[in-house]
Amino acid sequence: MSEEIVEASPEQVMAVIEQMPDLPWPEGEEWLEWEIDGLEGQTSYLMHVLPLAATTDAAALAAYTSRLTWLADKRWVARFRFDATLFTDDADTDPASYDRRSAPASLVRSLDADNAAWWPRGENAVMLVVSAEAAETKKAAVLVLPSQWLKGPPPTAYATTSPLVADFLSGDKDRVIPALWAVMKTRDPEVLTPLAHSLRAIERATANVELGGMLASNGSHLAHALDRVALFDKRVCLCTAYPSHQFYDPDKEEAQQHVRILDRVPNERQWVPDRICECRDCGRKYQVEQGEYHYTWWKWTEVATDRDR
Ligand SMILES: [Zn+2]
Repeated sequence: MSEEIVEASPEQVMAVIEQMPDLPWPEGEEWLEWEIDGLEGQTSYLMHVLPLAATTDAAALAAYTSRLTWLADKRWVARFRFDATLFTDDADTDPASYDRRSAPASLVRSLDADNAAWWPRGENAVMLVVSAEAAETKKAAVLVLPSQWLKGPPPTAYATTSPLVADFLSGDKDRVIPALWAVMKTRDPEVLTPLAHSLRAIERATANVELGGMLASNGSHLAHALDRVALFDKRVCLCTAYPSHQFYDPDKEEAQQHVRILDRVPNERQWVPDRICECRDCGRKYQVEQGEYHYTWWKWTEVATDRDR
């Protein structure tokens, strides 16, 4: 790579990644060189590697990889994080106790990264490795490898890696209530993916918990939080949850970068003007009325946009 960051756009890189699972595998220990749509990479016995960058321009790389992450989330939805610090077996390790995750982990560490995001894609995993903050020359690469190399916990074990799953499964009111509000606030795939995989177990664990609630029942908040997880699992944009709950404050949603407030229009019924919000993920637009009835509430109504025609 002569340039510090590949000249291909993140969109073009996505198109290359889509083709990488079809690349041939080498015999034995050799590396195969390949080129797809002008991008060059290599394949070992373990994985196809597409180098993206080796640069001192941290801001440019961050912009590039965040766009790529956004595209990958759109395409594959479920995102996991691989912790490369956990798997450090090497040639000296007794083969009987060797954890095969050590092989990809060592490649992640060789790019000065401690961890990496990855997306399941059929039998394969697509992993985006980006050097940690401290690295002077930051590198980035996409790895495509059979996901068996990353196979970690079975679904029942998500509680050990996701604090929110553990909170829900506890069935303890004082843990379930903060957990459901955390779900209400987030669109982060790394938070939502383990929840989606554990949804049935969570529904069972919380079915008979007495959650109480003063003005609006916490049971209905819980049902809504789990609906959000189900929407995420069905790849439906989470803005579609707004109309069915009263506590989505548009200012907070904008602060979280979920929506943009485009406009304010007077509402003769209310002291506060309605806000016109646009979802930053899918472009849906909503008119949001704010009112008071014991507590502040918001009513989100979708307004027709070009994307509906
Ligand atoms: Zn949306």
